[in-house]
Amino acid sequence: MIGGSMAGLLAARVLSEHFDQVTVIERDRLPDGPGVRKGVPQARHLHAFWAGGMEVVERLLPGVGSDLLAAGAVPVGLPTDMAWLTPAGRWTQPFPATQRLLSATRVLLEWTVRSHVEKSANINFYTDHEVTALRLGVTGDVSGLTLRGRRTGTTADLCADLVVDAAGRGSKLPEWLVELGFLAPEETTIDSLLGYATRLLEIPAGFSARWKAVYIQNAPPDHPRGGIMFPIEGNRWVLTLIGAGGDYPPTDDEGFREFAVSLRSPVLADVLAIAEPVSPIWGYRRTANRWRHYEKLAMPGRLLAIGDSLCAFNPAYGQGMTVAAKEVDVLAGILADCRSSTDLFRALQGAQRAIAARAKGPWMLSTGSDLRYPTTVGASQTPIDRLVNRYLDRAMSAVSDDATVNAAFLRVLNMIDDPQALFAPRLMPRVLRPRRHHPAHAEGLPVPGR
Ligand SMILES: Cc1cc2nc3c(=O)[nH]c(=O)nc-3n(C[C@H](O)[C@H](O)[C@H](O)COP(=O)(O)OP(=O)(O)OC[C@H]3O[C@@H](n4cnc5c(N)ncnc54)[C@H](O)[C@@H]3O)c2cc1C
Repeated sequence: MIGGSMAGLLAARVLSEHFDQVTVIERDRLPDGPGVRKGVPQARHLHAFWAGGMEVVERLLPGVGSDLLAAGAVPVGLPTDMAWLTPAGRWTQPFPATQRLLSATRVLLEWTVRSHVEKSANINFYTDHEVTALRLGVTGDVSGLTLRGRRTGTTADLCADLVVDAAGRGSKLPEWLVELGFLAPEETTIDSLLGYATRLLEIPAGFSARWKAVYIQNAPPDHPRGGIMFPIEGNRWVLTLIGAGGDYPPTDDEGFREFAVSLRSPVLADVLAIAEPVSPIWGYRRTANRWRHYEKLAMPGRLLAIGDSLCAFNPAYGQGMTVAAKEVDVLAGILADCRSSTDLFRALQGAQRAIAARAKGPWMLSTGSDLRYPTTVGASQTPIDRLVNRYLDRAMSAVSDDATVNAAFLRVLNMIDDPQALFAPRLMPRVLRPRRHHPAHAEGLPVPGR
C-alpha cells in the first residue's frame, strides 16, 4: 500500500483479510496521536465525513464511531442541527434528522481509523519512506517497488503480489508507469479556482442556538462565496470560508472577517464577533477536480489506484474521504467470494474499472456545480448540463421546504444514493412545484451573546 492516509488505511484493512501480509509504506513519520503532518496538509481544514463513508468504516473497523465520540466528536443530525442556506437563498427548515455525522477534525478521524488498523497483526507500517518506482516481474505484472528512506536516502526493493497506490493527489503513478514503458492515463481536470481559509474558534461558555453547524452554500454563478462551520472535539468550531473563481478568502484577520461579512447571511460574521480564535488562519488552493482515467488504460496487472490518486474532488461537497471509503468497499465486494489466489488475481483484473465507476456520481455532483462558474477552467457546460442544473436549482429550492426532497438530497450528499436518485418520478412533482421567488440574501440567525 503506497500511502497511509484514509484510502490506504481502509484498503489495507480489506486486503489484510485476503493476503498474508500487508505493508503500508508512508512517506511521513506518523504522529502518536491526532496531528497534522506534511503529507496531508489539507487536514487543517473542515472535513465532513458523511454517513455513507462512516457506515463502511464501522463495518470494516467496528468501534471507530464510539472511539470518536469518546474523544469528543460531536454528533450532528441533518438537517435538524444545521442552519443551512441553500443556493436558492432560503434557510432549510429544521426537519427531523434523516442523516447523522460525527463531526471531528480530520486528524482525529485519521488517527482513530489508524489506531484500529494497527491492531491487525498482518498489517505493518513502513514509515518515513517514500516509494520512488514500481518494478515489473517476468510476467509483465507489477512485482514490487523501490523505496527510499527520507532521512537516510538509502534505497531498497520490496516484492509484492499486489501494489495499491493510495498516495493522494500528488501521486507519481503516471510517471512510474511511463518509466516502465506504459502510457500515462488520460486526465480530466475541471478547476473552479476555489480557495479555502480556515480558523478554529473556541465555543463561548453558555453559547446556545438552535443549530450546531452552519452551512452557507456557494451559489454559482452569482455568489462564488460561501462558508461552513462545524463543532469539533475540544469545545471548538472549525470555520471555513470558501471562494470560487479565484475569489480566494484572505488569511489575515481583517480580510477573513470582511469576507465573512460579505456572505449571503451575516451569521458567520456574527460568530466571529463573539468567539475567541484558537488558531491562525490557514489557506488552501489545490482544489481542482482531477480524474486520472486508469480504468481506460492498459495497466500492468497487480496494480490498482484508489482514493485521491485516482479521482480528487473540489472539496466543497466534502466527498473525498467518503468516496475513498466507498471505493474500498467495492474492492471488498470484489474480493469477498475469492476462495483461492487464482480466484483473487482473476477478480482483481476488472477491479480498477469497478473502483473508478464508484467515483462517477460524486464527480457529476461537484463538476456539474463547478461548471456553472464562467471562470471554471477545463470544460464548459453543455446544453444537457444546463438542463440538469435548472432542475437541480428547483431541487435545492425544494430542499428547504419539502422534507421528502430534503431527505433525498441528504441521501445523495451522504453517498447512500447516486445523484440520479434526485430525478426519481416520485420526487419530480415536488421539485417542480411552483414556489415563490426568494431573495438571494438571507437574514442572519440569532447569535446569543451579542
Ligand atoms: C481543503 C480540503 C478540504 C477537504 N474537505 C473534505 C471534506 O470535508 N470531506 C471529505 O471527505 N474530503 C475532504 N477533502 C478531501 C480529502 O482530504 C481527501 O479526499 C482524502 O484525504 C483522500 O485520502 P487519500 O488517502 O486518497 O489521500 P491523502 O489523504 O492525500 O493521503 C496520501 C498519503 O500518501 C502519502 N504519500 C504520498 N506520496 C507517497 C510516496 N511516494 N510514498 C509513500 N507515501 C506517499 C502521503 O504522505 C499521504 O499520507 C478535502 C480536501 C481538501 C484539499
